[in-house]
Parts: sequence; structure tokens; C-alpha cells
Amino acid sequence: MQFDKEELEKFRLSGKILRETREEMRSYPKENMPIIEVCEKVESTIRAKGGKPAFPCNVSINEVAAHYTSPPGDTLTIPEGSTVKVDLGVHVDGYVTDSAFSVGFNPEGRSMVITAELALKTAVENIHGDMALGKIGSLIETIIKNRGFKPISNLTGHSVGRYLIHAGLSIPNVAQPVSFAKVKTGEVYAIEPFVTLPDAVGRVDDSPQTTIYRLLKTKSVKSEYSKKLLKYIEVNFRTLPFAERWIIGVVPKEQHKAAFKELLASKAVMGYPVFVEVSKKPVAQAEHTVLLKDDGCEVLT
Ligand code: MN
Ligand code: MN
Repeated sequence: MQFDKEELEKFRLSGKILRETREEMRSYPKENMPIIEVCEKVESTIRAKGGKPAFPCNVSINEVAAHYTSPPGDTLTIPEGSTVKVDLGVHVDGYVTDSAFSVGFNPEGRSMVITAELALKTAVENIHGDMALGKIGSLIETIIKNRGFKPISNLTGHSVGRYLIHAGLSIPNVAQPVSFAKVKTGEVYAIEPFVTLPDAVGRVDDSPQTTIYRLLKTKSVKSEYSKKLLKYIEVNFRTLPFAERWIIGVVPKEQHKAAFKELLASKAVMGYPVFVEVSKKPVAQAEHTVLLKDDGCEVLT
């Protein structure tokens, strides 16, 4: 996807809001803090700066690699000694930027965080238009392995579009078998290395839990309340992911559960499973969104 000058300015504004929010939040997560407090603080900070969350703030702990946001009334807290990933997204008129940081409340976690950041920095410094995907993956994998850790092989970066977090192209975190696919100048990509321990399997699997959702189709649903909820989702989030927290109160409290259940059952709305490292080893992540140029990239976040 190529973007004109006006669109790129919206990406830049989105990225600026994200960067400011991320830097303000870097030291915010503390041991024993309710996870929902981090999610809500990140999301309200984005809104206060004039952006909108492009997806619910993910706060994924230890072996949970991604896709956990607090469900309504979440009572989970950040465990002592844990490794915490905070993944946040901003959109301005649908132009999405996506970035993440991690915090290690233990020495090994801190070392994984540094490794994820170093792998990201190296990828950002070396990526350019027409670079083969396999080469980017190989670069990230080498940095991570040289520091004695392992990349998560089935989590990837991605191209970004308007109202689209994943616009089609995946950017691997490991060397790939020969692939002719390349990144292109003028496109926007999120790069996101995930790091785990050397004795981990280094892959994630779906867990049965879902906390993040997205509109699939605006199909007809039976109950009035489901209709109202679906309309609200369509108007407010379009094709972007949302949290159940964000739609509480749209229909009367007593009707919410059944109405939301109907949207999921009818496949008007889909849920993203929480990703867990297969061998239950802790994971750290770093992420930036970049605009690709012929000779390098502009970091938007
Ligand atoms: Mn992200
Ligand atoms: Mn991403």
C-alpha cells in the first residue's frame, strides 16, 4: 500500500502521539499493579493527546506473548518478578501506528528486554526498500541468538494500512527458506522481535481465552440489543480491534452478555486468541512502525 503526502502526515501525527504515550508509560507498570490500570492509562493518554487507540492496549505477562487486554472487571495484577509486554496502537483517521515496550522485573527478563530492543534497533538501522523478508528475519534472529536467547518463530511484524493493523505482508523474526518477497519503499511496516529463553520451544500457540475482538461482517443479527451493539462497533471501530471493556453500557447492563455472545456466535464479530509460548517460557517484545525509504526508513513511532 502506497500513501500520499497527506496520508503520511496522518501517520506521522499518529506516530508522534504513540511515541509520547509510550515514553510516558515506560516506567508506569509496577509489580502488583492491576493490569487494567495499565490498559486504561495507556488508552486514556492516547485519547488525551488527540489520537484514538488503534487496538486495546495489550499487557501480556511472562509466557503470554501477545493479545491479552483486560476483560471488563479484570482483577489480574502484574506478578512480582515477571516480564511484562505493553503493546499499544494509535490511529488518526484510520492511519495506524503500532509499538511495544517490555519491562523486566527480574534480571533475566531485563536481559531479554535489552535483546528485543537491540534486535529492533538493528532491523530499523538496516531495513530499506527491496530488502528480502528472509534477510530481515535472519538479521533479527542472529542478534537474538548472539545474546544467548531465542526468537519466537511464529510471531511476525506486518505491513500496516488504513484501518488495517495487518495489511497482508508478514515480517519474520527468523531466517526463512528462500523467499522472493521483499519490502517496498513507500509502505509502512511494524517490526516486532519477540525474545524468549534458549531452552524454550520458541513458538506460540492459541490459548482458549479471547480478550480482543474485531468486526468481521455487518450481517443481520436477531435481537435488538445485538443489532445496537453491532452498529456501535461498526461506527466506532470499523475493522480495528476493540476490547469488551469499550462496549460496556452500549446496551442495558443485563442485556450485554447475551447480546455480545450472539455477535460472536453469528460470526459478525471474531475474537483473537491470547498467544502463549508453547513451553510456557517468558517472552519480551519491542516494536516500532516505520515508513520505508529507498536507502533506509523513517521511524514513525
Ligand atoms: Mn503491536
Ligand atoms: Mn504489531
